[in-house]
Amino acid sequence: MGTISENFSYREFEASETARRHGIMNVITTVQVRDSVKSLVEEVLQPLRDAWGKPLAINSGYRSQELNRAVGGVPDSQHLKGEAADVACSDPYALARLACDLNLPYDQMILYPTFVHFSHRLAGEQRRQILYNRTYQGKRV
Ligand SMILES: [Zn+2]
Repeated sequence: MGTISENFSYREFEASETARRHGIMNVITTVQVRDSVKSLVEEVLQPLRDAWGKPLAINSGYRSQELNRAVGGVPDSQHLKGEAADVACSDPYALARLACDLNLPYDQMILYPTFVHFSHRLAGEQRRQILYNRTYQGKRV
């Protein structure tokens, strides 16, 4: 039982192995970030989890500026705003395909070999972009 929805909690959005290793503080401190995370979960991740039918683990959720630099994230990463989560999956194509078929309001989906980056904008239109990391070699959605 999570603190946001049935299967997701704020704690897993803040958890980071890199942050722990480097002693980086990675705690959600603003209402805006908290609302963004909540909206991403309620609109995209929980409906996806329900349809997927199995646990989905978050590799990287919210990132403080310091953590984003440490993991080599782009400077304007949506992870900084709490608008993105990297969801671990052994079959990224199947997960992305499902999100597509469910017509979920994602802003961007980026397929990587071992996870899918999902984002959702708190305000404004969702761009509905599907992108492929250069290391991804699987099927195209
Ligand atoms: Zn990401």
